[in-house]
Amino acid sequence: MDHKNQDDVQVEIREYSDEDFYPENCPSCGGQEIKRHTYKIRTIQDLGAPKICRRIRYEKITFKCKECKTTFGIVHPLIPFGRSYMPSIIDYAVSRVLKKGDSIRRVTSDLNELHLVEVSIGTVEEWINEAGEKGKLKSDFSNEPPPEKFSGHISLDGTFKSATTKKNSRKTGKPRQK
Ligand SMILES: [Zn+2]
Repeated sequence: MDHKNQDDVQVEIREYSDEDFYPENCPSCGGQEIKRHTYKIRTIQDLGAPKICRRIRYEKITFKCKECKTTFGIVHPLIPFGRSYMPSIIDYAVSRVLKKGDSIRRVTSDLNELHLVEVSIGTVEEWINEAGEKGKLKSDFSNEPPPEKFSGHISLDGTFKSATTKKNSRKTGKPRQK
């Protein structure tokens, strides 16, 4: 283990792509000639640990049917629709608040400082409410900004300090842009 100083944070990036679930048929006409149309890269936060920052780099693809020209997307089974956080983070927060009785403020602070997840108290409160306890919690945190102590070792524009990927060098020749 090579720790040069206390601030060293290892960034683990896992890459997910709709390409791994390539559609076989056009949902409109059933045609089998499907090609990539456009794509977009999303960065999704995952639950890290002290000094381990985990992020998902997800390639969202729009496919196009060569026959009827319909464009369409797929639902990636591992990527939460429309969210910037992986389910493990939300499960963790919900368990701590609703099962362990920890405060939303405390859990938000731990997520930021110990798990390197950038999240606000208001967002965590939304998760708790969505988990089925709506109305049971006081909502006096929702206007608070994220804790100031978030270290900022990472950035979401793709300029990570270092990265490891789970998949073994899948070469796609994609341009590296956000
Ligand atoms: Zn079609």
